[in-house]
Amino acid sequence: MIERGFWRGFGSLLTGLGVTFKRMFGKNATIQYPHVPVPVSPIYRGPVRLIAEEVASEHKCIGCLACQRICPTHAIPILTVAKNEQNKNYPVDFVIDDALCCFCGLCVDVCPTEALEHTRIGDMAATSQSLLRREILHEGAITSDNFPTSTGKKENKHV
Ligand code: SF4
Ligand code: SF4
Repeated sequence: MIERGFWRGFGSLLTGLGVTFKRMFGKNATIQYPHVPVPVSPIYRGPVRLIAEEVASEHKCIGCLACQRICPTHAIPILTVAKNEQNKNYPVDFVIDDALCCFCGLCVDVCPTEALEHTRIGDMAATSQSLLRREILHEGAITSDNFPTSTGKKENKHV
């Protein structure tokens, strides 16, 4: 005697198997992460970085603190400024914590000198939360940690 609901369960099984067979001969829906980079949308906005002129390693930050003030998640825990000989502010230490950043882009939008931009880095895996805290300026100089490097992927830094 066939149990009640048998045919409905059997139909459901066939539907599931149909999907399995269809996928078996179609294009892979998965990627071999981390050996293959995760594709990101063309409009993706990733971690924020300070735009640096590559050769001279200069930036346009004037230490106005607007980005730090507007950040809704306090993802810029350190942004210290000093005054130069012309009595103008300049940034000394600048830290962005990607563990707190929600990639809202407010800091990029508010920056009066367009010194910040989003990267297109989508791979933010890290073994420790502290690795997501990036010191992008130290004692006025751009550090080598301007870009998220938790997995050593720097290839998207200019995208
Ligand atoms: S993108 Fe948003 S959350 Fe991230 S540092 Fe900028 S203002 Fe803060
Ligand atoms: S808003 Fe722009 S210029 Fe002002 S401190 Fe932030 S990065 Fe520098």
